[in-house]
Amino acid sequence: MSDDKLRQELLYMVRLTTKYDFTRMEVVEGILRLENERRILDSVFGKRFKARIFDIAAGVATDENCVICGQHAQNQVICQHCLDTIGGSNYAQSKIKVEEKPAKVNLRFIGKTCLVVLLSVILCIQIWILSLAQSIPDRNPSVAATVSSFDLTPVSNEEEALAQLQLDFPAEDGYEISFGRMDSDYVGRFLLEKGDCCLDIEEKLTDDERYDYFFKEDVYVFYISQIQQYSARIGVAEVNSAGAILIMGKFNDGRRTDSFYKYR
Ligand SMILES: [Zn+2]
Repeated sequence: MSDDKLRQELLYMVRLTTKYDFTRMEVVEGILRLENERRILDSVFGKRFKARIFDIAAGVATDENCVICGQHAQNQVICQHCLDTIGGSNYAQSKIKVEEKPAKVNLRFIGKTCLVVLLSVILCIQIWILSLAQSIPDRNPSVAATVSSFDLTPVSNEEEALAQLQLDFPAEDGYEISFGRMDSDYVGRFLLEKGDCCLDIEEKLTDDERYDYFFKEDVYVFYISQIQQYSARIGVAEVNSAGAILIMGKFNDGRRTDSFYKYR
């Protein structure tokens, strides 16, 4: 056996010992199966090594001596001195460098390929999003809020309030309106410009403006629905005594269905 073959074998044993848990039979079986194919552990040390790791996996008591130098081995296979000497040898260091180099070159190549692919994918996604963004205004145009074309007409009870709503949401167009309850809402909302979104305005009020805006007044609350063959719309309407109307739900342009809009 050449020196080089023996050094290679010892280094292989050291690597196996530092890497694997020989108390696990499936690990030892894997090592021995590979050994049957490759015949690496052929020296007297290698044969001792194979027998030792099999004994450990099988739970057989060993003399706990290093299979290389015969000194006591804490791990029952190779003592620390041999591990250090063989693992730190010039031969071992040169082997490690030789094995690392191709791996690095390979990684660098793969890394570059991945990067090119990744950048291409990102570029495609950006182009796709851009084309999507350009097509959005056509598909989902921003429409001004729908507003009433009728004038303010004061009301003094729920029937009169209902009659005013029916002008804007007539039964012949499929609208159903039902009275919900009396409630109160902010005075300022009924003074907005037609088409204004109450929440949008309220977020921008100054402290002075808030003082006047957030007083409350009594309102008539109605539910409006329009059920058609392929669609259904529902909403809530509030009418104050001046006949001003707020609408929330699907009866504006749907920009903010969770907020009232000034409708009339
Ligand atoms: Zn030893």
